[in-house]
Amino acid sequence: MLLDALTKGMRKTIIAGNWKMNKTPSEATSLIEEIKPLVADANCEVIICVPYVDLGIAIEATRDTNIKVGAQNCHWAESGAFTGEISTGMLKELGVEYVVIGHSERRQYFGETDETVNKRVKAALAAGLKPIVCVGELLWERECNITNEVIARQIKLDLWDVTPEEMANVVIAYEPVWAIGTGKTATAEQAEEVCEFIRACLKGLYGLEIAASVTIQYGGSMNDKNAAELLAKTNVDGGLIGGASLVAEKFAAIVDATKPAEY
Ligand code: PEP
Repeated sequence: MLLDALTKGMRKTIIAGNWKMNKTPSEATSLIEEIKPLVADANCEVIICVPYVDLGIAIEATRDTNIKVGAQNCHWAESGAFTGEISTGMLKELGVEYVVIGHSERRQYFGETDETVNKRVKAALAAGLKPIVCVGELLWERECNITNEVIARQIKLDLWDVTPEEMANVVIAYEPVWAIGTGKTATAEQAEEVCEFIRACLKGLYGLEIAASVTIQYGGSMNDKNAAELLAKTNVDGGLIGGASLVAEKFAAIVDATKPAEY
């Protein structure tokens, strides 16, 4: 859509690494030291979403740099009997800025539902964290031609009761489940088609202005080779990167792919 193209430059481009369950604290320190100089002149927001045990050292190691730190989940309660969970207040006090919520691995392996995703999103926003809300269809849902229904439902439920004002701090990541960690990337056209649809859903829920301002990332086997083509698409405003974010040069190349081509 023409309007989406006109407003692309106004949206924040965000490249976020999702380290998943990788890197011990000492390994995290080494990787961050490698990444720092490579992304120092980035013209986009650069985030690393690290395991809980690495958050403290990641915050220290990225102080006075352009790298922001994110967590990979948070609980909705402020405190209490929730063994193994981490509260938004704990993340906030550490200096964490972003939090990935509703990643398909959480939905697939840890019983996360749209209802719990929504509770976590609202708690994150209330605490002043910026949620990166992951949505995406399974392969068989795509094959049954219900991608749009699945995405519309996730967007509506995951953002239920999120106010228009709060949307300024929400990032959406479109992550087709069949493309995550599989080496199978959505084509740039497939990514654009769904990201455009997500923006249309946001328009229905929040109106044109807010829909045009929300950053929508693509995630799913994005790497240094395919990033430029995906990121050039009108409604793809960044990437959520798993595997490739664990290799400093590859992650930096994806960050570089957000830069406008020089003529
Ligand atoms: C992810 O974990 O969000 C992801 C997109 O992983 P990968 O890049 O490895 O497919």
